[in-house]
Formats: sequence, structure tokens, C-alpha cells
Amino acid sequence: MIVCLERFMPENDAESRPDDDVSSICNTLDLQGGIECGGSTGLADKDFGGMYSFKPLAIIRPTAADDVARVVKAASRSSNLTVAARGNGHSINGQAMAPRGLVLDMRSTEDNHFKLLTIDGVSYVDVSGGALWEDVLRRCVFEFRMAPRSWTDYLGLTVGGTLSNAGVSGQAFRYGPQTSNVTELEVVTGKGDVLICSECENPELFFGVLGGLGQFGVITRARVLLQSAPDMVRWIRVMYTEFDEFTRDAEFLVTQPEEGESFDYVEGFVFVNSDDPVNGWPSVSLDPDHWFEPEPRTAGSVLYCLEVALHYNKSDNLSAVDTVLLEDVDHGLAGRSDPKLPAGPVIEVVSRLLGRLGFNRNLKYQVDVRYVDFLLRVKRAEEHAKANGIWEAPHPWLNMFVSKSDIAEFDRVVFKKILKDGIGGPMLVYPLLRCKWDNRTSIMVPDEEIFYLVALLRFTPPDPEDSSVENLVLQNNEIIQYCNRKGFDFKLYLPHYKSREEWKHHFGNQWTKFVERKACFDPMAILAPGQKIFSRTP
Ligand code: FAD
Repeated sequence: MIVCLERFMPENDAESRPDDDVSSICNTLDLQGGIECGGSTGLADKDFGGMYSFKPLAIIRPTAADDVARVVKAASRSSNLTVAARGNGHSINGQAMAPRGLVLDMRSTEDNHFKLLTIDGVSYVDVSGGALWEDVLRRCVFEFRMAPRSWTDYLGLTVGGTLSNAGVSGQAFRYGPQTSNVTELEVVTGKGDVLICSECENPELFFGVLGGLGQFGVITRARVLLQSAPDMVRWIRVMYTEFDEFTRDAEFLVTQPEEGESFDYVEGFVFVNSDDPVNGWPSVSLDPDHWFEPEPRTAGSVLYCLEVALHYNKSDNLSAVDTVLLEDVDHGLAGRSDPKLPAGPVIEVVSRLLGRLGFNRNLKYQVDVRYVDFLLRVKRAEEHAKANGIWEAPHPWLNMFVSKSDIAEFDRVVFKKILKDGIGGPMLVYPLLRCKWDNRTSIMVPDEEIFYLVALLRFTPPDPEDSSVENLVLQNNEIIQYCNRKGFDFKLYLPHYKSREEWKHHFGNQWTKFVERKACFDPMAILAPGQKIFSRTP
């Protein structure tokens, strides 16, 4: 079901010209990898959003940077061909598509480069831009007992795909987004040059590409900072009826200066104060066996859940006394006789931190899970959604960063009124710190030091009416317009705009730099046409 195809066909002159003879171009490429032209271009015209479909002329499966460079150079010799790197196609609005262009399936390079390095006592892993984060996780933990520091919630995304945006999850308050956790990239520019870049070497390219929406180059390798991987995670959810209490506690946790003074992961979400299995109380439980008593039924239309996690190691066994104490205070599984429960000091840290929070004392759930399972937690939701047919249905998602000053008003109008019945999926809201984001990258965030990620992760039923998806898109627009009208300090995350004016507004005083970087690294605007920022020049 494609709702937006006709309306959003590109208005680019170059793209409406007769195509160059793509098969003759493909024949001259002399690639190590594979190429499929014409009808059999696989998934290249689909993405997770399920609202756009643009057929490419060919899909190419490169083996390495050389192949990518040949494709880009061939496109530059044509009058109109564009090239889109496709990671895992988890964009919402056709960003990884190339209408009548060439799509590079970067997954074909996923096994390249994988290598552990230690430089000046610091550990890194080199990974392919086409590697899935879930594979990076498994390999780093099982081969080296190490792991990257900053994640996304869902790991079926590629390294190149998230670095082109930011890559945010509950570790970002401490380590910044994934873009703050890479020190070197190998990039194929829009001129077909293969360059190594870092803070010291080709820094304009390095910072341009990070959060650069694929506009300046194709990431073929990334050097990712590692930390030692814990065995286990205590995963806790506590509930609030009042938004100001929820934000006060979340901000307290993310602003603690010392690591030991906070959790290792801090997120939050809004849910509907009802029995609705998707939007309401049942969506909060961490385990199907969890029992809970939804006490504050008289509270507002929505409630808030603060989600935190603490790392620990198996070698620290919990004493029997500690186990009994836990059973007394929790509704969760912590008291179960899992031999891998944490040591006294870990429990003390959890108790001390939770003791400083103002959540509803009767509403706390917790489980102890393996670190790898914690990071792969959304995989289970994916399997469930696939079984229900809602993974393949359209996903009109809206992601934004909203400043601390405006988040209370946002809650009052957007969560409590516009979205009071839920969205058929999670509504995330949690604070981030601007000082952890490098302002030399291409990412745009609000000006204030504390800002909130707001993610409206909408799911629709299998085969929904076109009009129902359009209505959800309209509701997203209503929220954006409301924020604009109120003069909120906010930015779209994973932005999607239809006009140059809107892109200029998005980048604000960074627009000139963005345009200069484009002129320098992709002067013919060959790369990532699905973002619809620049038009291909002949
Ligand atoms: P694609 O959708 O394939 O590509 C995205 C853009 O990047 C395109 O413009 C493409 O051309 C470009 N690109 C892809 N690969 C490269 C490369 N190697 N070099 C240069 N450009 C490239 N984001 C978060 O920050 N945190 C989350 O927790 C999170 N969870 C998500 C959960 C789900 C279920 C989904 C669908 C998305 C989620 N996202 C999250 C958003 C996600 O980070 C972005 O959509 C990301 O772009 C997806 O990666 P991908 O590999 O599928 O990229």
C-alpha cells in the first residue's frame, strides 16, 4: 500500500529527462559485486515507512569501496543518474530510494573490515558501513567481550544508516549519539574519491558526513569506540502520573556528573491510562507474567514511564538475604531464583538511585536480563509485529527534538490532548544533553542544553485504508504546525521536507555550511536523492 506516490514524484528537471542507457553504463562498470537492472530490483523501492515507492533503474551489490566509487563515477559521467546508498531501508519517507537512479545495497559489504584495535589504551572496532548493529553487538561481545557505548533501541539498522542521522538511545545522555562515538570513517564522496576522514584528517568531510543524511559521501567503514561489555542488566520501569515529576527525575538522572551516580541507560515513554493492550497499561509490563495493579485510574488521560537500566557482572552473586528483600519490594521478577542476580553493591546503587526519585512507589517493575538480550529487546517486538502483519504495514512515524523549555507545553497539548488515545505504538520522550553532541557535525538539535527526544512510533493495521494513513500524516503535520505556531525551539529528527525553503529553515544558520560541503564533496548532487534536498545537475 503506497499512499504518497503520485504527489511526491520529484520535480527535478534532470530526473524527467530520458534515461541514459543504464545497461550500457552497467556493462562498463567492471564491478566485483553484482548488479540487477530493470524489473528485478528487489526491495530497493520499499522502506519501513511503507508510504513511498520509487523504482530505481538498477540495484548494485558492491563488495567494497572500490565498487561504490566506480558506480558514483559512472553516474557522474551520465547526465542524470543519481546514487542512493541503502542501509537496511528503515527510513520512513523514501530517503534511501533513488527514483530512476542506482541503489547501492550496502548490506552486501556487511562483513568487511571487522577488526579490533587498541590505540593508546583505547579500544575500537572497525566495521563496515553496511553492517547491522545487531551483528556488531554479537561479534564484539562474543569475540572480544567488548561493545560499542552508544546504541539505537532497535539494532536491525546499518552503521552507515544511523551515522547518517545520529543514532540515539538511552545511553546518549552519557556518551552522546552514535555519531559522537566514531573516530574515523572511510567515505566514497560524490566525486567518486575514496577518502579516510577523522577529526584531524579531512575534518570537513568527517563532520559533514556524520548526520549528513547521505549527502556528502557513502560510509564504507567506521571506527567505533568500545567499552567492556557487562554480563547483565537490571532493567527497571517506574511510573508517574505527573509530567513535571517525571521530567524532574529524568533530568536529575541524565545530569549526574559521575557515572556511578546514575543508571547506564535512561529513557521514558508516555502511555494511555486505560486497559488498551497496545496503548495502555498492558504495554508497560516488562514480562507477560508481571502482575500490576493500575492504581491511578483517576489520574489524567496519559501517564509516564521512566525506563532505566544498570549494568553488572555475573561474577557478583546476590546473597539470599538480598533476594528476600527484593521480593518484598518489587512486583517484578527480580526475586526469582536466577543464579545471575547482582551483588549487594549493585542493589545498593539501584536502591540509592531509585530512592531519590518521586515515582509512584507501588508502580515499579524490574527484570534481570543478559546485556545482549537487553540491547536486542526490540527484536522481540519485531517478531511479534511480523507475526501480526503490522511490521509490513505503513509507519507514519514522527521524530523530533524538543527543548526543555517547551516540553511541558508540548505534553499539555500534544500528549494529553491530540494523542490522548495513543498512536498504536510507543510514544517515547526522554532528555538528552546538547554538550554530548558535536556541533561540527551536520545534525541539527535545539539550542538549549537539555532537550527531549520525542518519537511517535505509529503502527497501523495490515492493509489500512489510504485515508487512515493520510490522516495520521496530517496529524503529524498538525503537531509540527502547532510547534511552529508556538515558536517552540525544536528540530525534526530523521527530517523529511518537500521544499528547499523548509530545508533551509531546518538548517538555519548551518544551511550555508551544508551547501558549501555539498558543493565540495558532491557538486553534481548525485548522492541520496531520496532526501530531496538538492537537485541533480547535468
Ligand atoms: P536507510 O533507511 O537504508 O538509509 C537512511 C539514509 O542514510 C538514506 O538517505 C541513505 O541513503 C543513507 N545511507 C544509508 N547507508 C549509508 C551509508 N553507508 N553511507 C552514507 N549514507 C547512507 N533511530 C535512532 O536514532 N534510534 C532508534 O532507537 C531508532 N530505532 C528505530 C527503530 C525502527 C524499527 C526503525 C524503522 C527506525 C529506527 N530508527 C532509530 C531510525 C533509524 O536510525 C534510521 O531510519 C536509519 O536511517 C535507518 O538505518 P538504515 O540502515 O535502515 O538506513
